[in-house]
Amino acid sequence: MHTIEHWIDGKAVPGSAAGRIPVHDPATAGVVAEAIDGTSEDVDQAVAAARAAAPGWAEVSLSRRASHFFRLKQLLDEHADDLAELISTEHGKTREDALGEVARGTDIVEFACGIANLLKGEISEQVSTGVDSWSVRQPLGVVAGITPFNFPVMVPMWMAPLAIACGNTFVLKPSEKDPSPSLLLAELFDRAGFPPGVFNVVHGGPTVVNALLDHPDIEAISFVGSTPIARHVYERGTAAGKRVQALGGAKNHAVVLPDADLEQTTSALTGAVYGSAGQRCMAISAVVAVGDVGDDLVARLRTQAEQIRVGPATDPESEMGPVISDATIERIDAAITDATERGATLALDGRAAPIASGDGWFVGPTILDHVTPEMDAYTTEIFGPLLVVLRAASLDEALEVIAANPYGNGAALFTSSGAAARGFQRRVQAGMVGINVPIPVPLAFYSFGGWKSSLFGDTHIHGPEAIHFYTRGKVITTRWLDDNVATASFSFPTTR
Ligand code: NAD
Repeated sequence: MHTIEHWIDGKAVPGSAAGRIPVHDPATAGVVAEAIDGTSEDVDQAVAAARAAAPGWAEVSLSRRASHFFRLKQLLDEHADDLAELISTEHGKTREDALGEVARGTDIVEFACGIANLLKGEISEQVSTGVDSWSVRQPLGVVAGITPFNFPVMVPMWMAPLAIACGNTFVLKPSEKDPSPSLLLAELFDRAGFPPGVFNVVHGGPTVVNALLDHPDIEAISFVGSTPIARHVYERGTAAGKRVQALGGAKNHAVVLPDADLEQTTSALTGAVYGSAGQRCMAISAVVAVGDVGDDLVARLRTQAEQIRVGPATDPESEMGPVISDATIERIDAAITDATERGATLALDGRAAPIASGDGWFVGPTILDHVTPEMDAYTTEIFGPLLVVLRAASLDEALEVIAANPYGNGAALFTSSGAAARGFQRRVQAGMVGINVPIPVPLAFYSFGGWKSSLFGDTHIHGPEAIHFYTRGKVITTRWLDDNVATASFSFPTTR
């Protein structure tokens, strides 16, 4: 059985752990590898390597740092297929979807190539007579990232490239469910010329996470995962004096107005709900049908969803793969039971869907109609191919539904009315908003983040806000005296 090791100080190492975590192929439910179940000693070793590398890396010139990222981008392009294969094997998403994930991760590396421009400070000449001030942003030291299973390449790349470009060194704790891609990423960082200790990986579960949160030599934590763990990471990390950005779970709503183009809306929603088997943080999981659009919309959604070919990523015809584990199927099952007992309609039952091949954790596209906000199917983050459809009399009522929901990651509106769109984008309680765009994930040069229980902390991830998160500011004030005469002043200096 293949063992997935840590990556510390430029090489794969077994660490001190005796324990192993089985890694499954969700399409077969079989074990395909084992990851080291890391210990706090392994974390100490990785942080020590990162700490030793930090001063030297921070001294590397900006243009030289950028040249490493140009090389990394090239290597990521060359190895996109290898990364996608590892993703598909351990996550289950289709090859095309996995390639899309690699491309979106690579976009961040491309953004990091512009670090010299991104780190520019400001200067003010003559803030007082003979006095100039300017600002710089300096690296923090060692920073860590803790990532979820659903994007084993893209989410680590939301963090590591910009943290490192800013002059920090990095320790990644990837999801134990699909850890292999992180090791290939580590090798590519190494081959791109980043010095040993700049990018490190420690595998494991809560023990490793908590050791990172408590570690006195880690300055900042970026986390992406479910809301309960995000809250834990934020509270424990900040209690230990770190800056923390912790992105949590989601319930992303799409509001459909009666004036929407239903054909386009149905296609857009079908991809956004069922792509990656609904296991995207920005997947649409709740549709709010306004006015009388509901029956027609649900009928169209059902027809399209029934045609989705469900099967393993090894089958190039597959459009939707398995879910990550049995637990997701159990959540869907429980949500269907609760909702139908409380009056919802099961418009499409994915438990009965035909599966092209494979005997793993498959469940087909599912639709629950006439769902109300108190049902478990709505209050729980299902994170699978289950769509709930709610009905609302007006756009105002739909906005109230979204506002009352504890999550606030993404929200979309489907309409042909500019006035409705403008009202929605101004009033909706979510961090990322789409107008006739179902998955409004910001590109690398914007920052990504939700509101409410979808993000704990002040700073969104990647894009310009990452530069702020991974650096601290310094303002320097200088005065060069042209004579040696100085008199002591005991009053507070003013600019006048
Ligand atoms: P998860 O919260 O179970 O795990 C995330 C990370 O936390 C993993 O590295 C895991 O090892 C660690 N972890 C799990 N339990 C822990 C515990 N008790 N103590 C300490 N650490 C622990 O999430 P997941 O199932 O891997 O990923 C799916 C979740 O991530 C969904 O809720 C999804 O919405 C969310 N997500 C959010 C975003 C976003 O941008 N907001 C993006 C991707 C995924």
